[in-house]
Amino acid sequence: MDLKKHIRDIQDFPKPGIGFKDITTLLINPEAMKEALNQFVDLAKGKGITKVVSMESRGFFFGPMIALEINAGFIPVRKPGKLPAETIAQEYALEYGTDTLEIHKDAIQKGDKVLIHDDVLATGGTAEAVVKLVEAAGGEVVQLDFIIDLTFLNGIDKLKGYQVNSLVQY
Ligand code: IMP
Repeated sequence: MDLKKHIRDIQDFPKPGIGFKDITTLLINPEAMKEALNQFVDLAKGKGITKVVSMESRGFFFGPMIALEINAGFIPVRKPGKLPAETIAQEYALEYGTDTLEIHKDAIQKGDKVLIHDDVLATGGTAEAVVKLVEAAGGEVVQLDFIIDLTFLNGIDKLKGYQVNSLVQY
């Protein structure tokens, strides 16, 4: 199945000049969703992964599904002030300004083997921040798996030395 057929392009969202890849059209189709999940599970199984970490909010669609299929725990990474217990925070650069992401301090145990998942790899800033959070919490990043890699933004350059997978590339 060609997963690209199930990803919609929205021009000028969220700002003029930006072409947004919309995965809600993939999620609405159970066959496409199952195909994407099967591909993620094939990429992840047999690697001893103990935790799946996903970022708010589009990483939360497939993150828990992948985790369940490979018998790993799921850990949400969230925007500041959303997680109730003690957190570790990581700031990262946006096109204009900065943003921050947080993870629960006690979510990862030393030696945990972690898969990081998000919907889209764009400039790589978000994923780089999550790698830092996982490592600061004592986890080992086994791989990063995305639905989409916007390869023209070279996000992979920020993730040198890590295994990066994507189901669809533009
Ligand atoms: P980056 O930090 O520039 O790599 O941006 C990645 C983050 O922005 C991810 O959390 C994505 O959910 C979001 N993102 C960037 N571009 C798109 C897009 O075209 N569609 C959906 N999400 C996007």
